[in-house]
Amino acid sequence: MAMPWEDSVKNRNPKQLTIFVAPTLSKPWRRAFDDALKTFNHLSQAHRLGVTMTAPANATKPEPDGDGGADVQFDTGSGDLAYTAFVFVPETPTVTAQMRVARDKFNDVQREAGHGIKHFIAAHELIHVCGLDNSEHTTYGPDADLFIRQPQPFSGPFNKPDEDRFVLHIPTGSKPNVVSPPIFLKTAIADLIRDNWA
Ligand SMILES: [Zn+2]
Repeated sequence: MAMPWEDSVKNRNPKQLTIFVAPTLSKPWRRAFDDALKTFNHLSQAHRLGVTMTAPANATKPEPDGDGGADVQFDTGSGDLAYTAFVFVPETPTVTAQMRVARDKFNDVQREAGHGIKHFIAAHELIHVCGLDNSEHTTYGPDADLFIRQPQPFSGPFNKPDEDRFVLHIPTGSKPNVVSPPIFLKTAIADLIRDNWA
């Protein structure tokens, strides 16, 4: 079940969560976070989610007692994901990509995932920040969206990490595969977020 934020947050006008971005975040993750924040706010506007997010440069760490500081901390590493106030993304997500080793020979090689995958992961976590939990994930297939459970990486070639995406659905017939980014929300998830902030 979606967990509502406390009234002192929900009653703000405008309804906006502030995010403290860990200064230790790597450059690629900082870029992914910045894009995810823009993506979230676009989705919020398009679906009238009723909440936006901001990451002001002068934000400070959330206070443990919830009094002062930012509402949310975005960081790499691991931690207790039960709290919406903390987002931890994996330091170096990897994908298996095809590396050309000879004229017509390719090997599967692990490498760091590209921007598209990090952007998606960061944006997915921002949906959790809205209060949605694991039981509300969408599933791989026609209903999948940003809030998919265990998305499957769909890597570009070894030397083209910018082509990395997640695959959300492989339809039968001649319809194209659904990959993301571009990032989108289906109505069901948008409704859950809106209801949680109403
Ligand atoms: Zn999730």
